[in-house]
Amino acid sequence: MYFNEDHEALRALVKRFVDKEINPYVDEWEKSSMPLHEVFPKLGELGLFGIRYDPAYGGQGLDDWFDTVFLEELGHIKAVGAQASILVQTHLATPALHEFGSEHLKKTWLEPAIAGRLVSALAITEPGAGSDVAALRTRAVRDGDEYVINGSKLFITNAVQADFLTLLARTGDKPGYHSFGLFVVPTDSPGFVVSKELDKLGWRCSNTAELFFDDLRVPAENLIGEEGEGFIYQMKQFQYERFSSLPISYVTARDMIDMTVDYIKQRIVFGKPLITRQVLRHRLADWVTQIECLKQLTYHIVRMKMDKRDATREISMGKLMAGRMLREVADGCLQMFGGMGYMNENPITRYWRDGRLASIGAGADEIMSEIIARMEGF
Ligand SMILES: Cc1cc2nc3c(=O)[nH]c(=O)nc-3n(C[C@H](O)[C@H](O)[C@H](O)COP(=O)(O)OP(=O)(O)OC[C@H]3O[C@@H](n4cnc5c(N)ncnc54)[C@H](O)[C@@H]3O)c2cc1C
Repeated sequence: MYFNEDHEALRALVKRFVDKEINPYVDEWEKSSMPLHEVFPKLGELGLFGIRYDPAYGGQGLDDWFDTVFLEELGHIKAVGAQASILVQTHLATPALHEFGSEHLKKTWLEPAIAGRLVSALAITEPGAGSDVAALRTRAVRDGDEYVINGSKLFITNAVQADFLTLLARTGDKPGYHSFGLFVVPTDSPGFVVSKELDKLGWRCSNTAELFFDDLRVPAENLIGEEGEGFIYQMKQFQYERFSSLPISYVTARDMIDMTVDYIKQRIVFGKPLITRQVLRHRLADWVTQIECLKQLTYHIVRMKMDKRDATREISMGKLMAGRMLREVADGCLQMFGGMGYMNENPITRYWRDGRLASIGAGADEIMSEIIARMEGF
């Protein structure tokens, strides 16, 4: 209904890649994290890092429906950490570079990122600034043809292996949202330090780091767009990140349900397969209902995006729904497996651990509720 044969061709391409190049390795990557410099060039070669991006920089120049197909197929990756590392490259660290970056920045950083030759990370969160992004203290001070960056960042996905960061720093002291700059920061710059690789509950395929910047100098031309507007660019960039969680979540949730149904069809308890218990079947029905609602909201958002309408309200609603639904389904499926749901050999344990972050990262549930309430005038 929404997708034609070109979309289905892309779906088949991403599916083949996920089945062949990702899912067979996720157990290994959960222990040692995904080798991004090995995997990313393969994704780049297939054009999957540049679906929406301008062909002038190696992109495919396709629309949001193709992007949605790509995201839906990433949802079949059996480890959310691997999904996350890929999304950083496509939906977190590069949208603002594509939209607001200079020709020089796009040729130097975006083009190789689309080709998968360079690995990117998005550096916004700090020890004292997560939900409240404007409280960040990392500072970039102009010095001639350079900016000097001092400060730290926390919880940065891909940062251990990244070649560059898209980094938000304070460039002035005026209150409000016009005292920030968004910068491209090469990680081989003197003064860049990965102070700690972090040990996490889930998302173990992805590497996550605490970073420190000590008089790190970048050329002034590494500023994305205009000085003072970085916060605004980042708020726009968040919309891509938050949107990406919608298709991924409903597909991942459906996969969890399918594997659970396979199990409860053959698991005999009190003389009957568990699937015959109405209470369980109705719970499954509730979840697929939620999945369908989220999917239809997603397609509505895609139509809004195609019409160039602001979808912040709807994306916030979808992100809130996705986080809650993923947690509910992961927990409920684990419950249906009984003791087998508590064994690490069962993939549901990983989904359960991974899914927890969906209500925290990229703006916690409470932040989504706040945006929705504000936009509704409550
Ligand atoms: C594995 C992982 C990967 C991440 N990757 C990245 C990355 O690549 N780049 C990056 O920049 N950041 C990244 N983050 C950071 C993530 O976006 C933040 O953790 C998130 O925004 C929440 O910020 P915080 O942890 O500082 O929580 P806080 O801001 O301290 O909030 C704590 C909790 O308080 C609640 N809360 C906050 N504000 C309100 C309010 N107004 N009303 C009611 N309740 C509220 C929420 O429940 C929130 O979860 C990552 C985090 C993790 C754990």
